[in-house]
Amino acid sequence: MCLYSCVILGRMAYTFPFAAIVGQDEMKLAILMTAIDPSLGGVLVLGDRGTGKSTAVRGLASLLPAMRVVSDCPYHCDPAEPQRCCDRCRSALAQGQKLKTHVRPVPVVDLPLGATEDRVVGALDLERALSQGVKAFEPGLLARANRGFLYIDEVNLLEDHLVDLLIDVAASGENVIEREGLSVRHPARFVLVGSGNPEEGELRPQLLDRFGLSVEVRTPDDLPSRIEVVRRREAFENDPADFCQQWEKEAEKIRRKISSARKRLHEIDIPEAARGRASELCMALGTDGLRGDMTLMRAARACAALQGDRQVGEAHLRRVAAPALRHRLRRHVLDDTGSATRIERVLAELMPA
Ligand SMILES: [Zn+2]
Repeated sequence: MCLYSCVILGRMAYTFPFAAIVGQDEMKLAILMTAIDPSLGGVLVLGDRGTGKSTAVRGLASLLPAMRVVSDCPYHCDPAEPQRCCDRCRSALAQGQKLKTHVRPVPVVDLPLGATEDRVVGALDLERALSQGVKAFEPGLLARANRGFLYIDEVNLLEDHLVDLLIDVAASGENVIEREGLSVRHPARFVLVGSGNPEEGELRPQLLDRFGLSVEVRTPDDLPSRIEVVRRREAFENDPADFCQQWEKEAEKIRRKISSARKRLHEIDIPEAARGRASELCMALGTDGLRGDMTLMRAARACAALQGDRQVGEAHLRRVAAPALRHRLRRHVLDDTGSATRIERVLAELMPA
């Protein structure tokens, strides 16, 4: 759904600025962290409708530096990274061919609920392939999302096999289509953002666990925030160009933060003490497996990078514990308040602020 997030005037399309979103700090932080470290494995946004979920994703994408792409490649390969290109671009680059390129915004692709598997993964025309001996492949939504974001509203209502497939592709970075002995593969690296309202359809525990981060969004329940949300929406709709201009300074600040955090991410020091703390926290909460420990550390590192800190400390762990762990607690998985409260309690015991 894109109720307010874009306004098209003449030839210009305006996106509601990320910086102008009121509150929803946890969601904004989680989305920023996945932009800094895509290996975090996507974000699941749980909560009420109309709380700016798709606005935040679109807004963030428009803050990321535009990307250079091979002009006639359906996967918008990056000519500077041949190892991540599709077969065609890679072999052209290996032969020293000069490929035509252009610069385009980071894609945000919506995956509609009724989408068929062919539309998602791409369609292989077997008849043409067999009769003409060519690989007749029509790229799908995963191709379009390469190097960007794939947004699924109401992910809990999507068919299980599609969800599994998406999570697998997001983790491997490659889409492989196999039909009757023919196969096509292409790069599909994207950040998966799913949103859902647990009251409208159950979220399978396996699904929950495979998203890196999970955040809760609620309709603001204090008067000043509600008034401010409505005020900013109105101002945006009345004059999107002017509104975006007003927020440009804040947008530039976030752009600089993201770009600096991305550069420094792998230089952030993770002291043994912080690793110990992270695993203690997971043990105390009884999270299954070790995925929680790993995500917690990576999220804390991305958070430190975002804040301009050199090493991971307890403050970062405290800040990212809920989004990294709340969907991995053994019991009361869908009882959001319960999970958040349990995490807070354990944090207070282990790492008092
Ligand atoms: Zn390519």
